[in-house]
Amino acid sequence: MDLQSPFSKEQVDNLNSFQSARIFHPYTCGNGGDFNHIMYEFRSRYGDRNYEEYIIEEKNKGVRFPEAQFTETKLIATEGGWICPVCDYKQNWAHDFSASKKWDI
Ligand SMILES: [Zn+2]
Repeated sequence: MDLQSPFSKEQVDNLNSFQSARIFHPYTCGNGGDFNHIMYEFRSRYGDRNYEEYIIEEKNKGVRFPEAQFTETKLIATEGGWICPVCDYKQNWAHDFSASKKWDI
């Protein structure tokens, strides 16, 4: 069964804890992996480090697709539904189990 937005305050808390829990795959943006999203993910981990240099360094270390770790941007639950921190992507449903409890991080 799926829930539709609006979500209750408690469901929002539960869903956002689910997003950080790493037990199941989190809800992610449908536009994840485009340049803006990749840069958002890169900046959230590496601040203002130079992206192109980082990619070259990783490739020199033997990492074949260093970009791949930046291709998923997690959605944020709000009472109005899911929103993306980068673009205007929205999602109005969640699996009800994921909103059913507070997930331990
Ligand atoms: Zn997005």
